[in-house]
Amino acid sequence: MLKTRVRFAPSPTGPLHIGGLRTALYNYLYARSKGGDMVLRIEDTDRTRYVDRAEEYIFEALKWSGIELDEGPNAGGILGPYRQSERLGIYQNYAKKLVKSGHAYYAFDTVEELETMRTEREAQGIHSPKYDWRIREEMNTSLKMTEDELARRLKSDQPYVIRFKIPDEGEVTFSDEIRGEVTFDCSELDDKVLLKADGWPTYHMANVVDDYLMQISHVIRGEEWLSSTGLHVLLYSALGWDKSIPVFAHLPLILKPTGKGKLSKRDGAKFGIPVFPLEWKDEQTGDLFLGFGEMGFDPAAVINFIALLGWNPGGEEEIFSMAELTDLFSLEKVGKSGARFDFDKARWFNQQYVLNSGAAELAAQAQPFLKKAGFAPEEEYVVRVCELMRERIQVISELPEAAIFFFTKDFPMDQKQLKKRWKENSAEILENINRLIGQLDDFSKSKIEKEIKSFINEKDLKFGQVLPLLRLAVSGTMEGPDIFAAMELIGKVKCERRLAELLQKMN
Ligand code: GLU
Repeated sequence: MLKTRVRFAPSPTGPLHIGGLRTALYNYLYARSKGGDMVLRIEDTDRTRYVDRAEEYIFEALKWSGIELDEGPNAGGILGPYRQSERLGIYQNYAKKLVKSGHAYYAFDTVEELETMRTEREAQGIHSPKYDWRIREEMNTSLKMTEDELARRLKSDQPYVIRFKIPDEGEVTFSDEIRGEVTFDCSELDDKVLLKADGWPTYHMANVVDDYLMQISHVIRGEEWLSSTGLHVLLYSALGWDKSIPVFAHLPLILKPTGKGKLSKRDGAKFGIPVFPLEWKDEQTGDLFLGFGEMGFDPAAVINFIALLGWNPGGEEEIFSMAELTDLFSLEKVGKSGARFDFDKARWFNQQYVLNSGAAELAAQAQPFLKKAGFAPEEEYVVRVCELMRERIQVISELPEAAIFFFTKDFPMDQKQLKKRWKENSAEILENINRLIGQLDDFSKSKIEKEIKSFINEKDLKFGQVLPLLRLAVSGTMEGPDIFAAMELIGKVKCERRLAELLQKMN
């Protein structure tokens, strides 16, 4: 049996979005589940759409998300180079080989000639005319040239392309692991350019040649490539590689959070949500696109979230580590229909990871966000804050705001609650509590709790008359964690000051 080899083949035309990351993930999971190899190939042959920092971004995003590569531009491997721009000679040779075997031809049509062909065909009532068997013979191609003429033309500086000659009739069929048998009628396919006038290959040519030479056994990619696969299979046959045609699996789309259609980078801006693993600044427009990483998401949670966008192992369980995903993943359980991108669900996943993380780990993740908010607390203190606050945040970046009263006395006061809770005897109660606090030598959670509760009982008060006030005085909010634990952590002197300050304000 041949070794399982998959590839992730992004084009560096911009940052890798969540859909691309999911393609990479499914490839990775598949390879790992079969003990196979994961190859990264940079498909950088479209120079008009090439974006400088995109390749670097791809490396970083894969690394951030824990997707490991066996081969690739900076991972090594013996079947490289893994950047298509470094393989131009290879594609040129195969394109010429196809011409020699009669499966492709030179086309010298000028832009004007192509335009004329289109206008004429449209005038005949043909909607979006293609360069295909219907007009091939009328065009300016090597198909109708003598060898001498062709040689002369090729020597002149007239630009030309190499086009694939789609068989005039018949069908091309392949089986897709997700969609079953797929068939295209050859008469519906056009004679795609394989090699452009500048000597660079098109996507189709480079993609097929490389999948073959890199011994790819499974092509797992987005649904948008399904319509090209007929051509790819024909190319394999034309090159004599029938036996090496890979298994195809075309993944379902990731849909917009609401409405119809595919998730796009504009949706990120529209809904104020990240659709990229890491932040990306568009150098041309200056636009900044949010990234899950910079927003404080745990990469493992993001991986868990996107793994389930289109794949489901069955059952109720939703929390899976990378190792568990590897064990469970199979292409049969990938669905055909699009999966909706739901940011609230992403936050929910992250929350599960926050709940399951150690406080020290959370504290380390919190540091950059605290720093950004202008706080510089001691590590040990942050660990204790995380212990208390872990259930109250979904993403670690929320910590500085949700736990602000742990870091500064200038926390916002929930005025609505204060107004509602402040009664005639409130000042007196708080004064008493403050006195009581002042007398405590042991300012531990249990001691504070015990003393305050016995005060409430002695004075025949209700918890509701005392604890909300205490909470508001110390933290400004009714949402905080256990108030006695919070007080212990904040410390006696600061708590006393906060109570005094509120009393003064309400005076
Ligand atoms: N370079 C293509 C892309 O950017 C790869 C498609 C494929 O995997 O064949 O998505």
